[in-house]
Amino acid sequence: MRRITVLGATGSIGDSTLDVIKRHPERYAVHALTAHRQVDKLAALCREFRPAHAVMGTAEAAAALQALLRADGIKTEVGYGEAALEAVATDAAVDAVMAAIVGAAGLRPSLAAARAGKRVLLANKEALVMSGRIFMDAVREHGATLLPIDSEHNAIFQCLPADDPRYRAGVAKVVLTASGGPFRTRDPDSLHDITPDEACAHPNWVMGRKISVDSATMMNKGLEVIEAHWLFGAPAERIEVLIHPQSIVHSMVSYADGSVLAQLGNPDMRTPIAYGMAYPERIDAGVSPLNLATAGALSFETPDLVRFPCLGLAFDALRAGGLAPAVLNAANEVAVEAFLQGRIRFTDIARVVAGVLERAPGGNADTLEAVLSADQDARRRAGELLENRSSC
Ligand code: NAD
Ligand code: MG
Repeated sequence: MRRITVLGATGSIGDSTLDVIKRHPERYAVHALTAHRQVDKLAALCREFRPAHAVMGTAEAAAALQALLRADGIKTEVGYGEAALEAVATDAAVDAVMAAIVGAAGLRPSLAAARAGKRVLLANKEALVMSGRIFMDAVREHGATLLPIDSEHNAIFQCLPADDPRYRAGVAKVVLTASGGPFRTRDPDSLHDITPDEACAHPNWVMGRKISVDSATMMNKGLEVIEAHWLFGAPAERIEVLIHPQSIVHSMVSYADGSVLAQLGNPDMRTPIAYGMAYPERIDAGVSPLNLATAGALSFETPDLVRFPCLGLAFDALRAGGLAPAVLNAANEVAVEAFLQGRIRFTDIARVVAGVLERAPGGNADTLEAVLSADQDARRRAGELLENRSSC
């Protein structure tokens, strides 16, 4: 029996993870569930999965959840805040941690799980973008097992046999596929009028609102380029992005001898989640089998960096290295939040990120303090650009 903590249990990845867990009660038990604000949803999940611990974002939310559970005679202990998140990510009773908090808020507990030597199922790509070197060092030094849950990186992981350097030597390129999001073919002159709901209506995936906007700007693919750099040790020039609107080929590895290995499947996050949970075994994920005869044509095209400036900005940040990816991520989080609140236009997201990145501090991302200070500084500068939009 493997005991799992699900960080971000009330989100889209949380839902899919708990669905896979439910299918295999003989293999998996839930140790802890966490949520930021959704008391009622976490209460319902605690009634169903009976975790030993639950964590909320604030003391008030935790008290409300604890009261609901006590009234039902459920013994789950409820905590709140960062220390409680780290505690449930590192508890000796835990085998695996699903890191599915969105954004920079997931960094500390995800890193703590790696430092505790856990099996880390990493959906929270922002954590790796911000602190790639620190995170990968922690995984190595503490004997953690890092399994990528992002569908593209999970696909590449599946096509890149184990940690065998003989295979790595023959890798020519990793190729990340991208759906192109909802605006791949929309008239570029109409992009500034896009509403948050239009941006969140992804053609192939149902996801949280932040990653949905990132998919529409293709910043999501940019963050994934940086994620791939850290996970697979690939320099920027060996990472290619290819638009594939059908989202059936989840990514590919191109080898020196001309071979290309790809992983295919219906677009459903339960596949990479089940893969990460059971690795190196395979289990039923509840995903319908892929039928290529009925899937229709699979098409591929090169992304247009004029339409999707955020993708180019992410490559710039990766090439700049050091703290630049953390700055890119922080500026993007602030800009996406402002867009979702109706404070800026869709096309302003790239402008804000570019404006903050232009003046990104130099320096290495070797300590968590340096990363978190660059993150805070970038948020402040993004806020200033938002205040004075004429300057961006
Ligand atoms: P979501 O918005 O649906 O869920 C986010 C979860 O994080 C919720 O449980 C929420 O309560 C929690 N949370 C939010 N802010 C928090 C904070 N400040 N402190 C603690 N908890 C907080 O997001 P999602 O779509 O499930 O995505 C989660 C992560 O997985 C993101 O990093 C995303 O990039 C990544 N990811 C998602 C998908 C997908 O299909 N949804 C695919 C690949 C990667
Ligand atoms: Mg992805």
